[in-house]
Formats: sequence, structure tokens, C-alpha cells
Amino acid sequence: MSTVLQEPGEWVDGFLFVANKPILDFLNTRPVLAQGPTELLTDFHALERWFIASEIVSSARVKNLLRSWRPSPEAAAFLKGLREFRERLRDAVLRMEGGSAPSDEFIRELNAGLLQHPLTAVLRKREKRIVRESHFDPQQLADLWTPFLDAAAELVSDPDTHRLRQCEACVVHFFDTSKKGSRRWCSMNICGNKLKVAAYQRRKRNNDASS
Ligand SMILES: [Zn+2]
Repeated sequence: MSTVLQEPGEWVDGFLFVANKPILDFLNTRPVLAQGPTELLTDFHALERWFIASEIVSSARVKNLLRSWRPSPEAAAFLKGLREFRERLRDAVLRMEGGSAPSDEFIRELNAGLLQHPLTAVLRKREKRIVRESHFDPQQLADLWTPFLDAAAELVSDPDTHRLRQCEACVVHFFDTSKKGSRRWCSMNICGNKLKVAAYQRRKRNNDASS
């Protein structure tokens, strides 16, 4: 079945990575579980863990920098602002999934953010070729906006927004990269099996009732 997605790394350090785009994985840090909406970015330390799990941060220098910011009031304020941004991003994603464009207000917000926190690029030599790579090298706390703004800008300008969708069984959003573009679930392990079992039971009930 083309919709099967059983990658071993779906959960990394308590965070879900099934969306094919880190910005959507970020959106999915507030899933709605059986007990209701669950905030996974509970504090700045949780955000540090998410940065590392998502592989946006890998250098020891940045890890240490994040740790040094952790106790500051600015870190708490940053996280609050980031969570609020996540909900505005959710609105934009829901609009795009419904076939509409994000609000003008959100685009204005991204434009203002991109000017303030541009993502720089570096050239690296890979064997004989020169490749251009994004260069995220935060020096101060506000620089942490950079990867979110850049990825959100990329998402809203992606020509394949029809591949953006929400799992049929839960609130998780993902970018469908399957060949047929027919992926329906966040993950086979999480929702696919649940739905298949429910469909099987429904069929069985109907068969039992008609026999
Ligand atoms: Zn799901």
C-alpha cells in the first residue's frame, strides 16, 4: 500500500517526525491526543530537545548556547512568542489545505520577520562540486526565529501545496511526498492501523448483520 509509512524514527525524544518538512513537524508539537490538546514544547528545555531531535541544531557550540539561555526570562518570552506563531502558522496551513491562500496579515508578518532574521547561505566544497547550504549560526536568542521564518516562507510559497494535508484520523499535518500523492495518514503505526482495524470491524459488523 502506497500510504504505508513505517520509518523507525517517527518519534525522536518524545517528538513526532512524520511530516516530511521540519516546519510541519514543528506545527505537530501540539497534537490532540485522547486526553485533549497536548503541548510538547512545555518549556525552553523542551524546545532545545526539539531543535536537536529535528537536527536543526547539531553543533556543541549552539547546544551550549541554548543551555546558557535556558534560565533567562527572555527564553520564556521567546517560547511564548514561538507558540503563538505556531498557531498563526496552523491557520495558514489549514487555509492552504482548504485550497485558499494564507492571510495577507500572515504574509506581512513573515515578510517583516524575514527582513529581521534572514537565513544566510554558505558555499562548501563537496568533492569537486561547490554546494550552497543554509547557514544557521545563532549568536543571540532572537536569531532562533530564523529557521522557523525561513521554513514557513518556503512552505507558503511551495508550488505543491495540494500535497499538504491533515491526517484523516488525527490533527497531524504532513507533506505528502509519496509517488501517487495518496498518503492519508500521519503514520501507519499511529493512525493507519487504527483506521484499518475500525474499517475491518465495521465491515465485519455489516456482514454479520446481513447474514
Ligand atoms: Zn494521524
